[in-house]
Amino acid sequence: MSYIPNPSRYSKMEYRRCGNSGLKLPAISLGLWHNFGHVDQLENCSNILKLAFDNGITHFDLANNYGPPPGSAEENFGRLLKRNFSGYRDEMIISTKAGYTMWEGPYGDWGSKKYLVSSLDQSLRRMNLSYVDIFYHHRPDPETPIEETMSALNLLVRQGKALYVGLSNYKPAEAARAIQILKELGTPCLIHQPKYSMYERWIEDGLLDLLGNEGVGCIPFSPLAQGMLTDKYLKGIPADSRAAKAHGFLKPEQVTSEKINQLQQLNALAAERGQKLAQMALSWILRDQRITSVLVGASRPEQLADSLKCLDNITFSQAELDKIDRIL
Ligand code: NDP
Repeated sequence: MSYIPNPSRYSKMEYRRCGNSGLKLPAISLGLWHNFGHVDQLENCSNILKLAFDNGITHFDLANNYGPPPGSAEENFGRLLKRNFSGYRDEMIISTKAGYTMWEGPYGDWGSKKYLVSSLDQSLRRMNLSYVDIFYHHRPDPETPIEETMSALNLLVRQGKALYVGLSNYKPAEAARAIQILKELGTPCLIHQPKYSMYERWIEDGLLDLLGNEGVGCIPFSPLAQGMLTDKYLKGIPADSRAAKAHGFLKPEQVTSEKINQLQQLNALAAERGQKLAQMALSWILRDQRITSVLVGASRPEQLADSLKCLDNITFSQAELDKIDRIL
């Protein structure tokens, strides 16, 4: 039977304005970095996407290289868009990126105009779309002049291939320069996508202030530290986990006994708040209103359903925040 989205899908989700823009994003967005490649089961991908959309998740985050193999997450997403969501494109925000290694030779990596323009054309073909909503430069390029990279983003907006542009993995000084150039070009930077979790707090040192002052949104990635900030690793590394998969980016050696000890203490604090650890880790990010959305991954629909419950409690007492800082 063909998929009919839940008619009350917009009733529970919170939508936050992205910086000073006209665009609102759901407080939870779904990322397709892992679990959507050709190595994964398409039916599971389909079920995760349907659960997301049924719960008001309108924003789906991809990149040219997501898979494996690279490009396959965009292909699978395009296939499932056609199968399940063909009448719903205007209710969706679809993001992609270029900046990491995608194809051989000097034009398939980093930040040249040549790479960004060709890569977005390829992404559009893989997803069978005429435009994406947000196109990101995925990481700063120390060799290409930043003016060239930003003018490529501006060009793609002028050509109608992207509605908005964003930056990812730019440190505060680089981000400030890029935001300024984009402003001068008349294509304001919509959003920044940095890594941020209880374990990775560098954005608190300048980036969040910059984004807040400039009216640029912020969407942290890997908020669960790739699954560590959940109840998954409390007793070691389970077989069905990212750390146990050969192609996973979380390596078993990152799950140290010191980390497990911290996770157990965090898990106990989450329980005191009436939450699971994953829910507390996501709420902790959303406590700051400068965060537009938190970008989660999921290997099963049940995980996403679980994570969505974080929205029931996103306030923290000072004592709870202090306790988290002491544990880590
Ligand atoms: P998370 O930190 O949210 O980790 C997701 C993993 O956590 C899942 O695959 C699953 O692990 C586990 N998990 C999720 N929910 C639960 C739950 N409720 N209970 C138990 N375990 C759970 O994010 P990702 O690292 O996947 O990153 C999210 C997105 O951010 C990516 O898909 C991508 O879109 C973006 N990203 C962007 C980057 C950039 O450079 N701009 C870099 C990396 C990511 P398991 O598979 O073990 O079941």
